[in-house]
Amino acid sequence: MKKIQNIIKKLYWLGLIGVIGTVFHVTYLKLFYLFFLLVFVDICISLGYRMKYGKMNEYVADLKFLWQNIMILIGNICIYIRHGFHLPNVQTYSPKVSCHLPFQGKWMVVNGGTDQQHSHSWGLVMQRYAYDFYRIENGKSYQGNGSNVCDYYCYDQPVLAVADGIVIEIKNKFEDTKVIGESEVLCDASDVRGNYIVIQHASHVFSMIAHLKKDSFCVKVNDKVTAGQIIARCGNSGNSSEPHIHFQIQEGKNFYFSASLPVYFDEIINHINRNDMHHIKEGDIVENR
Ligand SMILES: [Zn+2]
Repeated sequence: MKKIQNIIKKLYWLGLIGVIGTVFHVTYLKLFYLFFLLVFVDICISLGYRMKYGKMNEYVADLKFLWQNIMILIGNICIYIRHGFHLPNVQTYSPKVSCHLPFQGKWMVVNGGTDQQHSHSWGLVMQRYAYDFYRIENGKSYQGNGSNVCDYYCYDQPVLAVADGIVIEIKNKFEDTKVIGESEVLCDASDVRGNYIVIQHASHVFSMIAHLKKDSFCVKVNDKVTAGQIIARCGNSGNSSEPHIHFQIQEGKNFYFSASLPVYFDEIINHINRNDMHHIKEGDIVENR
Protein backbone atom coordinates (compact mmCIF):
# COMPACT_ATOMS: atom_id res chain seq x y z
CA MET A 1 0.00 0.00 0.00
CA LYS A 2 2.87 2.35 0.80
CA LYS A 3 4.25 1.77 -2.70
CA ILE A 4 0.88 2.74 -4.21
CA GLN A 5 0.86 5.86 -2.03
CA ASN A 6 4.35 6.76 -3.22
CA ILE A 7 3.22 6.39 -6.85
CA ILE A 8 0.17 8.57 -6.15
CA LYS A 9 2.39 11.23 -4.54
CA LYS A 10 4.47 11.30 -7.74
CA LEU A 11 1.44 11.27 -10.04
CA TYR A 12 -0.17 14.33 -8.55
CA TRP A 13 2.78 16.41 -9.71
CA LEU A 14 1.35 15.88 -13.20
CA GLY A 15 -1.28 18.40 -12.10
CA LEU A 16 1.40 21.05 -12.69
CA ILE A 17 0.94 20.53 -16.44
CA GLY A 18 -2.47 22.15 -15.91
CA VAL A 19 -0.62 25.39 -15.05
CA ILE A 20 0.98 25.34 -18.52
CA GLY A 21 -2.55 24.88 -19.94
CA THR A 22 -3.70 27.99 -18.07
CA VAL A 23 -0.69 30.09 -19.12
CA PHE A 24 -0.95 29.12 -22.79
CA HIS A 25 -4.76 28.72 -22.88
CA VAL A 26 -4.65 25.07 -23.95
CA THR A 27 -7.86 23.46 -22.69
CA TYR A 28 -6.83 19.81 -22.83
CA LEU A 29 -3.69 20.55 -20.80
CA LYS A 30 -5.92 22.04 -18.10
CA LEU A 31 -7.39 18.53 -17.66
CA PHE A 32 -4.11 17.64 -15.93
CA TYR A 33 -5.40 19.62 -12.92
CA LEU A 34 -7.49 16.49 -12.24
CA PHE A 35 -4.31 14.78 -11.03
CA PHE A 36 -4.42 17.08 -7.99
CA LEU A 37 -7.55 15.14 -6.90
CA LEU A 38 -5.23 12.23 -6.10
CA VAL A 39 -4.39 14.21 -2.97
CA PHE A 40 -7.67 12.91 -1.53
CA VAL A 41 -6.68 9.28 -2.26
CA ASP A 42 -3.40 10.04 -0.50
CA ILE A 43 -5.37 11.36 2.52
CA CYS A 44 -7.49 8.19 2.65
CA ILE A 45 -4.42 5.95 2.65
CA SER A 46 -2.80 8.08 5.39
CA LEU A 47 -6.02 7.83 7.38
CA GLY A 48 -5.84 4.03 7.05
CA TYR A 49 -2.30 4.09 8.43
CA ARG A 50 -3.42 6.21 11.36
CA MET A 51 -6.18 3.71 12.20
CA LYS A 52 -3.71 0.84 12.02
CA TYR A 53 -0.71 2.37 13.80
CA GLY A 54 -1.64 5.57 15.60
CA LYS A 55 -4.19 7.82 17.23
CA MET A 56 -6.93 9.48 15.21
CA ASN A 57 -6.17 12.93 16.59
CA GLU A 58 -2.77 12.64 14.93
CA TYR A 59 -4.69 12.80 11.68
CA VAL A 60 -4.78 16.57 12.20
CA ALA A 61 -1.00 16.51 11.80
CA ASP A 62 -1.52 14.73 8.47
CA LEU A 63 -3.76 17.58 7.31
CA LYS A 64 -1.05 20.11 8.23
CA PHE A 65 1.32 17.88 6.31
CA LEU A 66 -0.98 18.04 3.32
CA TRP A 67 -1.04 21.84 3.57
CA GLN A 68 2.74 21.76 3.52
CA ASN A 69 2.69 19.64 0.36
CA ILE A 70 0.43 22.23 -1.26
CA MET A 71 2.90 24.97 -0.23
CA ILE A 72 5.72 22.94 -1.78
CA LEU A 73 3.70 22.68 -4.98
CA ILE A 74 3.03 26.43 -5.12
CA GLY A 75 6.64 27.21 -4.13
CA ASN A 76 7.91 24.99 -6.94
CA ILE A 77 5.92 26.95 -9.52
CA CYS A 78 7.02 30.32 -8.08
CA ILE A 79 10.71 29.32 -8.09
CA TYR A 80 10.49 28.17 -11.72
CA ILE A 81 8.82 31.42 -12.78
CA ARG A 82 11.25 33.62 -10.79
CA HIS A 83 14.21 31.92 -12.48
CA GLY A 84 12.62 32.10 -15.94
CA PHE A 85 12.66 28.27 -16.00
CA HIS A 86 16.51 28.33 -15.85
CA LEU A 87 17.34 27.04 -12.41
CA PRO A 88 20.85 27.19 -10.95
CA ASN A 89 22.93 24.15 -11.81
CA VAL A 90 26.44 22.99 -11.13
CA GLN A 91 27.71 24.36 -14.47
CA THR A 92 26.14 27.81 -14.26
CA TYR A 93 26.13 28.56 -10.55
CA SER A 94 29.26 30.20 -9.11
CA PRO A 95 29.38 29.26 -5.44
CA LYS A 96 29.93 32.15 -3.02
CA VAL A 97 30.55 29.87 -0.05
CA SER A 98 32.70 26.78 0.44
CA CYS A 99 31.15 24.29 2.81
CA HIS A 100 32.41 21.80 5.34
CA LEU A 101 30.37 18.72 6.12
CA PRO A 102 27.85 19.14 8.96
CA PHE A 103 29.24 16.25 11.09
CA GLN A 104 32.37 14.78 12.65
CA GLY A 105 33.95 11.58 11.35
CA LYS A 106 33.06 9.41 8.33
CA TRP A 107 29.44 9.44 7.17
CA MET A 108 27.72 8.12 4.09
CA VAL A 109 25.80 10.18 1.52
CA VAL A 110 22.45 8.37 1.48
CA ASN A 111 20.69 10.71 -0.95
CA GLY A 112 21.89 13.59 -3.06
CA GLY A 113 24.09 14.66 -5.93
CA THR A 114 24.37 17.44 -8.46
CA ASP A 115 22.71 15.64 -11.37
CA GLN A 116 19.20 14.36 -11.93
CA GLN A 117 20.22 10.73 -11.48
CA HIS A 118 21.62 11.22 -7.98
CA SER A 119 19.56 14.20 -6.84
CA HIS A 120 17.86 14.09 -3.43
CA SER A 121 14.64 15.11 -5.25
CA TRP A 122 15.14 16.71 -8.65
CA GLY A 123 11.46 17.61 -9.14
CA LEU A 124 11.24 19.44 -5.80
CA VAL A 125 13.44 22.36 -6.70
CA MET A 126 13.70 23.63 -3.11
CA GLN A 127 15.45 20.35 -2.27
CA ARG A 128 17.07 19.52 -5.61
CA TYR A 129 20.66 19.77 -4.28
CA ALA A 130 19.96 18.58 -0.72
CA TYR A 131 21.92 15.77 0.91
CA ASP A 132 20.97 13.12 3.46
CA PHE A 133 23.76 11.67 5.54
CA TYR A 134 24.01 8.90 8.10
CA ARG A 135 26.74 6.86 9.72
CA ILE A 136 27.32 3.31 8.70
CA GLU A 137 29.29 0.54 10.40
CA ASN A 138 29.69 -2.98 8.97
CA GLY A 139 27.22 -2.10 6.23
CA LYS A 140 24.43 -1.05 8.59
CA SER A 141 23.25 2.26 9.99
CA TYR A 142 22.15 0.75 13.33
CA GLN A 143 22.93 -1.82 15.94
CA GLY A 144 20.39 -4.08 17.67
CA ASN A 145 17.10 -4.41 15.84
CA GLY A 146 16.90 -0.78 14.74
CA SER A 147 13.45 -0.22 16.20
CA ASN A 148 14.59 2.62 18.46
CA VAL A 149 16.20 5.90 17.36
CA CYS A 150 18.98 5.26 19.89
CA ASP A 151 20.01 2.14 17.92
CA TYR A 152 21.24 4.34 15.08
CA TYR A 153 24.93 5.25 14.97
CA CYS A 154 24.28 8.84 13.91
CA TYR A 155 21.60 9.55 16.52
CA ASP A 156 22.54 12.30 18.98
CA GLN A 157 25.82 12.95 17.15
CA PRO A 158 26.91 16.61 17.00
CA VAL A 159 25.74 18.64 14.00
CA LEU A 160 28.13 21.36 12.80
CA ALA A 161 27.78 24.69 11.03
CA VAL A 162 28.97 24.19 7.44
CA ALA A 163 30.45 27.70 7.14
CA ASP A 164 30.67 30.98 9.06
CA GLY A 165 27.33 32.74 9.34
CA ILE A 166 24.45 34.06 11.42
CA VAL A 167 21.59 31.97 12.76
CA ILE A 168 18.37 33.16 11.12
CA GLU A 169 15.76 30.66 12.25
CA ILE A 170 15.40 27.70 14.58
CA LYS A 171 12.45 25.34 15.00
CA ASN A 172 12.59 23.30 18.19
CA LYS A 173 9.17 21.79 18.62
CA PHE A 174 8.90 18.17 17.51
CA GLU A 175 9.68 14.88 19.22
CA ASP A 176 11.51 12.21 17.23
CA THR A 177 9.42 10.32 14.69
CA LYS A 178 9.06 6.65 15.58
CA VAL A 179 11.07 4.24 13.42
CA ILE A 180 8.66 1.71 11.93
CA GLY A 181 11.05 0.13 9.45
CA GLU A 182 11.07 -0.67 5.72
CA SER A 183 11.75 3.01 4.96
CA GLU A 184 8.16 3.88 5.89
CA VAL A 185 7.43 7.07 7.81
CA LEU A 186 4.66 7.71 10.31
CA CYS A 187 5.34 11.38 10.88
CA ASP A 188 3.49 13.16 13.70
CA ALA A 189 5.19 16.49 13.03
CA SER A 190 3.32 19.08 10.99
CA ASP A 191 6.56 20.14 9.30
CA VAL A 192 8.46 17.75 7.01
CA ARG A 193 11.71 19.25 8.29
CA GLY A 194 10.92 18.51 11.93
CA ASN A 195 13.31 20.59 14.06
CA TYR A 196 15.63 22.62 11.85
CA ILE A 197 18.07 25.50 11.72
CA VAL A 198 18.63 28.11 9.00
CA ILE A 199 21.96 29.95 8.89
CA GLN A 200 22.86 32.78 6.52
CA HIS A 201 26.41 32.61 5.14
CA ALA A 202 26.33 35.30 2.44
CA SER A 203 23.71 37.22 0.52
CA HIS A 204 21.38 34.65 -1.06
CA VAL A 205 23.25 31.75 0.56
CA PHE A 206 21.54 29.99 3.47
CA SER A 207 22.13 26.53 4.89
CA MET A 208 19.21 24.54 6.25
CA ILE A 209 19.75 21.43 8.37
CA ALA A 210 16.71 19.36 9.29
CA HIS A 211 15.43 16.41 11.42
CA LEU A 212 17.37 17.64 14.47
CA LYS A 213 16.87 16.35 17.98
CA LYS A 214 14.50 18.38 20.13
CA ASP A 215 16.17 20.61 22.76
CA SER A 216 19.62 19.86 21.36
CA PHE A 217 20.29 23.34 19.96
CA CYS A 218 23.33 25.08 21.43
CA VAL A 219 22.91 28.33 19.49
CA LYS A 220 20.05 30.79 19.17
CA VAL A 221 18.67 33.15 16.54
CA ASN A 222 21.06 36.05 15.72
CA ASP A 223 24.10 34.16 17.07
CA LYS A 224 27.23 34.27 14.95
CA VAL A 225 28.59 30.82 14.19
CA THR A 226 31.86 29.65 12.70
CA ALA A 227 32.47 26.73 10.34
CA GLY A 228 32.68 23.49 12.29
CA GLN A 229 30.96 24.86 15.41
CA ILE A 230 28.53 22.44 17.08
CA ILE A 231 25.01 23.82 16.65
CA ALA A 232 22.69 20.91 17.56
CA ARG A 233 22.43 17.11 17.53
CA CYS A 234 21.22 14.60 14.97
CA GLY A 235 17.67 13.38 15.51
CA ASN A 236 14.71 11.89 13.72
CA SER A 237 12.11 14.67 13.86
CA GLY A 238 9.83 15.36 10.88
CA ASN A 239 9.43 13.25 7.77
CA SER A 240 12.29 10.88 8.43
CA SER A 241 12.34 7.08 8.28
CA GLU A 242 15.46 6.84 10.45
CA PRO A 243 17.87 9.29 12.12
CA HIS A 244 19.96 11.22 9.59
CA ILE A 245 21.10 14.73 8.73
CA HIS A 246 19.32 16.56 5.91
CA PHE A 247 21.48 19.44 4.69
CA GLN A 248 20.94 21.87 1.86
CA ILE A 249 22.05 25.28 0.65
CA GLN A 250 19.18 27.50 -0.48
CA GLU A 251 19.03 30.97 -2.03
CA GLY A 252 16.66 32.46 0.57
CA LYS A 253 15.59 31.83 4.13
CA ASN A 254 12.14 30.58 3.13
CA PHE A 255 12.23 26.85 2.47
CA TYR A 256 9.20 26.80 0.18
CA PHE A 257 10.10 29.69 -2.07
CA SER A 258 13.88 29.32 -2.39
CA ALA A 259 15.68 27.27 -5.02
CA SER A 260 18.28 24.97 -3.56
CA LEU A 261 21.81 25.59 -4.81
CA PRO A 262 24.58 23.14 -5.76
CA VAL A 263 26.87 22.74 -2.76
CA TYR A 264 30.60 23.41 -3.19
CA PHE A 265 32.50 21.45 -0.55
CA ASP A 266 36.03 22.26 0.49
CA GLU A 267 38.50 20.70 2.89
CA ILE A 268 36.75 17.33 2.78
CA ILE A 269 37.94 13.78 2.11
CA ASN A 270 35.83 11.59 -0.18
CA HIS A 271 36.79 7.97 0.37
CA ILE A 272 34.84 6.70 -2.65
CA ASN A 273 35.18 9.31 -5.37
CA ARG A 274 38.60 10.90 -5.17
CA ASN A 275 38.40 12.68 -8.54
CA ASP A 276 36.04 15.49 -7.59
CA MET A 277 36.83 16.84 -4.15
CA HIS A 278 34.22 19.58 -4.30
CA HIS A 279 31.05 17.70 -5.16
CA ILE A 280 29.68 14.56 -3.55
CA LYS A 281 26.96 12.10 -4.43
CA GLU A 282 24.89 9.20 -3.18
CA GLY A 283 27.07 6.30 -1.97
CA ASP A 284 30.13 8.43 -1.15
CA ILE A 285 31.78 8.07 2.26
CA VAL A 286 32.96 11.50 3.34
CA GLU A 287 34.55 13.34 6.23
CA ASN A 288 36.01 16.74 6.99
CA ARG A 289 39.74 17.07 6.44
ZN1 LIG B 1 16.48 14.73 2.98
